[in-house]
Amino acid sequence: MKQKSEFEKELIFPIGEDNRAYADYFAGNSYLNMLSLKQVVIGSVTFEPGCRNNWHIHHAKSGGGQILLVTAGRGYYQEWGKNPVELHPGDVVNIPPEVKHWHGAAPDSWFSHIAVEVPGEGTANEWCEKVTNEEYGKLK
Ligand code: MN
Repeated sequence: MKQKSEFEKELIFPIGEDNRAYADYFAGNSYLNMLSLKQVVIGSVTFEPGCRNNWHIHHAKSGGGQILLVTAGRGYYQEWGKNPVELHPGDVVNIPPEVKHWHGAAPDSWFSHIAVEVPGEGTANEWCEKVTNEEYGKLK
């Protein structure tokens, strides 16, 4: 597996800081670089190998949801009740509001995506249970 400094060379945007604000909702270490806090909130999230976020829901009364733009490494996105989808640089994931899901790195690879928070009315994130080691352990 690559060292952090080696993976950083693959990034277009700086890796950012330790993602302490959301650490309670992630398994493993992640890094966050907020790219835009105006108009549309956009952040670059980097997951170390094995790191993933908890199951969560982007709620909204209208609009809302999230768009992931994969920039580096290899990772996964999974919606509740569906199979995980492997992600590579250049992949785009449109996450509708109210859909329970998680995203994160592959077990043996760093992973970075840009997360676009789609504006809407009554937007709020709900953090749910962790992705179990049993579920995650099936991933390559
Ligand atoms: Mn999400």
